[in-house]
Amino acid sequence: MTVQAGARLLEGAPIADEIRAKVALDVAAFARTHGHPPGLAVVVCGRNAPSMVYLERILKACASVGIESRLVHVEGDDPAAQAADLTVALHRLSDDRTVSGIIVQMPLPAGIGLKVVIDAIDPLKDIDGIHPLNAGLLRLGFEGFVPATAHAALEMLERSGAPIVGAEAVVIGRSPVVGMPVAFMLAKGGATVTVCHSRTRDLAAHTRRADIVVVAVGHPGLVTGAMLKPGAVVIDVGINLVDGHIVGDVDFASAREVASAITPVPGGVGPLTGALLLTHLVRAAQRQAAERPELVAET
Ligand code: NAP
Repeated sequence: MTVQAGARLLEGAPIADEIRAKVALDVAAFARTHGHPPGLAVVVCGRNAPSMVYLERILKACASVGIESRLVHVEGDDPAAQAADLTVALHRLSDDRTVSGIIVQMPLPAGIGLKVVIDAIDPLKDIDGIHPLNAGLLRLGFEGFVPATAHAALEMLERSGAPIVGAEAVVIGRSPVVGMPVAFMLAKGGATVTVCHSRTRDLAAHTRRADIVVVAVGHPGLVTGAMLKPGAVVIDVGINLVDGHIVGDVDFASAREVASAITPVPGGVGPLTGALLLTHLVRAAQRQAAERPELVAET
């Protein structure tokens, strides 16, 4: 009888612990030099329970490494008034010397466009890479801030040991926060990249020839083992709530039998995303201290 060992699990938590330990050292060093730690502002429009759970986790992670963080609520029901308040809040935080990085909880409420955020956020504090300057730097192959989730997907791949140079990579999803930044980073890393989306005619025809499959859609069970090339490395970014449980976009049971390595959901890309966001914040604080010292508080 042949025993199927199944794919290697690419777990995010141990890597996240390692990253947070390094961040704690960097935060302490920054505080020694500048008299205060880096600061994070998390902006939330309206109140909804699921995102609050996620945000409270970020605030807790900040506290655990010595980062000062604050939650900024933009209340109200009228989209026009809320958009105006959001603009004021983002300008204020962009000018605030104690704030090194700003993230805005997505999705924004109906009636408030992303343009409101990108018009008001300082690109040097845009640690989740939504500003066109950061998106453009990524597109042109320069160093900016990339969305933390896309960064986490790449970091997971790099740590899996799977060769990226020369690999056939398929990215499913073309959003500006996950799919496209992942595709640009993979192409920069030397992979041959195909981007699939809702209008792709035969998804399986693409995934079956891929050495690397990154799935960022929001559709449980979209990718099954039968759609994978044996030995593929599968990075599942999807987060879906099914019967009260969090699952990814990949049918884990069947994919695990075919892939050589796979991220579980939960416990894969998610934990890494939060930890990498903290590294972006420290980098933002260091860049501001070096490039725009007037932005960094004296004490
Ligand atoms: P999004 O903006 O809704 O984009 C979804 C993408 O999937 C779109 O490009 C869409 O194509 C494509 N798509 C939809 N149905 C498809 C299908 N049947 N076949 C192939 N492609 C299809 O979502 P997102 O913000 O990128 O997020 C994607 C997933 O990642 C979600 O589950 C989200 O919850 C999760 N997520 C996870 C983290 C984390 O930390 N792990 C962070 C952020 C997001 P079109 O462009 O043609 O519409």
